[in-house]
Amino acid sequence: MGCTLVYSDAMAGYDLGAGHPLKPERFMLTVDLMRAYGLLAAEGGPVEVVAPGEPVSDDDLALVHDRAYIETVREASADPERFSWRTRRGIGPGDTPAAPGLHDAAALIAAGTATALQLALEGKGATRAFSVAGGLHHAHHDRAAGFCVYNDPAIAIMLALRERPGLRVAYLDIDAHHGNGVQEVFYDTPEVLTISLHESGRYLYPGTGREAETGAGAGTGFALNVPLPPFADGACYALAFDEVVAPALAAFAPDVLVAQCGADAHHADPLTHLGLTLADMRDLYGRIVRLAHEHCGGRLACTGGGGYGTYSVVPRAWTLLAARLAGVELPEELPAEWRERSGALGGEPAPLTLTGESPPPPSVEPEPLLEATQAAIRKVRHSSALLSSD
Ligand SMILES: [Zn+2]
Repeated sequence: MGCTLVYSDAMAGYDLGAGHPLKPERFMLTVDLMRAYGLLAAEGGPVEVVAPGEPVSDDDLALVHDRAYIETVREASADPERFSWRTRRGIGPGDTPAAPGLHDAAALIAAGTATALQLALEGKGATRAFSVAGGLHHAHHDRAAGFCVYNDPAIAIMLALRERPGLRVAYLDIDAHHGNGVQEVFYDTPEVLTISLHESGRYLYPGTGREAETGAGAGTGFALNVPLPPFADGACYALAFDEVVAPALAAFAPDVLVAQCGADAHHADPLTHLGLTLADMRDLYGRIVRLAHEHCGGRLACTGGGGYGTYSVVPRAWTLLAARLAGVELPEELPAEWRERSGALGGEPAPLTLTGESPPPPSVEPEPLLEATQAAIRKVRHSSALLSSD
C-alpha cells in the first residue's frame, strides 16, 4: 500500500509575506525531509509525487465561494498595494494580507486537494493521498479568514459530490483550530459528516466549535465538535478518537475520509496551547489510517493545515504522516543534509531525531485535562443523534 503526495513547488507561491506565520517553507522543508529520508519514489521510496493539475477554475471555486469574493481575490493578487491599508472581504492588513499571485496559488492548492480526494476515490496506485499544502479550513463562502483564501477541503469535497451523486464523505479535522469554514459549507448537508477536535474557542481563534454546534436542517447531527482544554495531550485525543471519532465513523459509514492534519496541536506551537508530542501525532495518524480501513475501504485523503513550528515541528509531523500513509517506519535519526538546510533556514540548530522533544512538553496534571475532555465528550454524545443511540 503506497501513498501519493500531491505537490508542486508552485504551491509555495502562497506566500503571505516575510514575518507571516504561514510560511511556504513549512511544506518545502517537509517535502525536503521526505526526500532526504528516501521516502519519495524518485529515491526508490513508496511515496509517489503527483502534480496538482490546473488551478481550480472560477466556476468550480464558485461551488463554495461567492463570485464577487473570487473577483476580490483576483484584484488582491493583481494589485496588493490597494489592500495594504484597508481590508476587503477579509483580505488586507491583519491575518490574511494581499500578495501577488495569491489567487493562482490558492486555486492551485485547491486543485491539489481535489486531486488527492479523486485519487483516494479512484484507488489508482494508492488509495491514500496527501495534499501537503492544503487544509486551509477557515476560508468562508464570501471572505478570507485565518490565513485562508480558498477553502480547499470544501472545494475538493464539493467537486467529488458533483461527480459522484450520493457519495458520503467524512471530514475529520485535528488542526488546533476549529474547522469552521468547512463546517459552515456542509452544515445543512447530511452527506458530509464534519468532525473537529480543537482547542476550545474560549481560548483560541476562531472562537467557534462548541459541542452544541451539530448541524442544521437536513444536516442536523452531521457536525461534531470536541473542544479540548489548553494543554490537552495524547491521552485526551485518544479518548476523543475512541469515544467520538470512531463511533461516529462507524455510524455514518462514509465512502471516503478526508482528514485535515494541521500540525499546530503540538505543544511547542507558538500560536496555540495544546499538548501533543510528535509521538502522539504519529499515533493519531496511525489511528486515522486504521479508521479509514475499518470504515471506508482505506480511501483516505489527508491535507496539511496549520502548524507554525516551521523548522522544527511541521516537517517532522508531516513526514511522520506520509510514512504512516505509506505504511513504513523511518529511522529516528534525522538525515544530516536535511538538518543542515533546516538549521540554516531557521537560524537555530535543527532537532536531532524524528520524534525527539526539545524543549520537552510542559508538565501538567493529567487528571483535570482528562476530566475536561470527558465532559466535552459527554456533551457531544448527548447532543448527537449519531452517537446517542447506544
Ligand atoms: Zn490551526
